[in-house]
Amino acid sequence: MSASARGFIAPGATLGVMGGGQLGRMFVHAAQQLGYATAVLDADADSPAGLVAHHHVQTGYLDEQGLAQLAQRSAAITTEFENVPAAALRALAARRPVAPGADAVAVCQDRAAEKAHFAACGVPCAPHALIETAQQLAAVDPALLPGILKTARLGYDGKGQLRVASAEELASAWQSLGRAPCVLEKMLPLAYEVSVIVARNAAGALVHFPLQQNLHRGGILAVTQVPSPDLTPQVQQRAIDAAERIAARLDYVGVLCVEFFVLADGAVVANEMAPRPHNSGHYSIDACDVSQFELQVRAMTGAPLVAPRLHSAAVMLNLLGDLWFRDGEPETAPPWDALLALPGVHLHLYGKTSARPGRKMGHLTVTAATLDDARRTALRAAALLGLDGF
Ligand code: ATP
Ligand code: MG
Repeated sequence: MSASARGFIAPGATLGVMGGGQLGRMFVHAAQQLGYATAVLDADADSPAGLVAHHHVQTGYLDEQGLAQLAQRSAAITTEFENVPAAALRALAARRPVAPGADAVAVCQDRAAEKAHFAACGVPCAPHALIETAQQLAAVDPALLPGILKTARLGYDGKGQLRVASAEELASAWQSLGRAPCVLEKMLPLAYEVSVIVARNAAGALVHFPLQQNLHRGGILAVTQVPSPDLTPQVQQRAIDAAERIAARLDYVGVLCVEFFVLADGAVVANEMAPRPHNSGHYSIDACDVSQFELQVRAMTGAPLVAPRLHSAAVMLNLLGDLWFRDGEPETAPPWDALLALPGVHLHLYGKTSARPGRKMGHLTVTAATLDDARRTALRAAALLGLDGF
């Protein structure tokens, strides 16, 4: 069913989501708040979203019976996991409205297609080369070095990425990535990083959140600050215009996040996009009058989209599994009680049963009247957690 053929799906209906991770869990919370029932498809019996949804279809993404069950239960379906096979979304779309659509998700799943889309929208991205063959490897322009070799598909949180400084390092990096199709990107001197989250509905209405400024550590998002401390009005306008063009040209329905690099001269360069709510938008639950997850619900049900308003400054700290393994001691949870004693702290834990280094276990958003106040408290929280300052 085409996105525009659908009417408003009123509360009381069931909304389906492909994937049971933390993004699915927060989507389920937002849907339930609005009075929808929810169904999650995820093979893991203990998936964070499956644990809180009304229905948990416990199968793989390509399981025909699982997909049929999800479609049968749901009035509309979305995705929380970027790498849901496009074939699964196409199968669902034959029976129910699916937002975002398989074609848009497929572009986001492939770094080469994604960069081609940015170019088609007139949005600059990092100089890069596609490496799928030994010939392409040999022909790489040395001006792209030092660079980052990234697998074209299935990378996330810095996985499937290697930094390379020479042609020799590039060759061995490609080897160690299994000679999978890759993109070599020139390493850019970043002044700072921001992301823009937009929501678009089937009628083409677009709203956006204020820009977030993001700090990554080890390729994983560590800290998000809003309002962005380094942003200029020109950079803000360029990034928002670019994100809106990128969404519109995909005929996108749902929430889309575009990550940008900002260079020292103010140039705005698109890094990548995610066809779903994004880690850098989690602050919106506590600091905006409409969260990114509620906008996902609104976009997929045909409800009106309203522009979100930031009512508090916010700093978000990601809580990775590393925090459970400090000082070589046995697995110990962080000092939640001390954190909860700080003003404006909103603790979100995803219900994951075991901690692993690098695993996203939860996040903490500090809200305050000003960014300075939020930063002060967030720095105290970081110190309690043993995290570096920012
Ligand atoms: P995620 O999906 O979690 O956002 P990812 O694994 O897809 O991450 P990228 O967004 O491609 O990874 O890169 C992660 C981080 O590495 C970026 O946010 C940036 O800090 C750094 N980085 C990536 N590409 C470049 C580049 N070309 N120049 C400089 N820094 C880069
Ligand atoms: Mg990224």
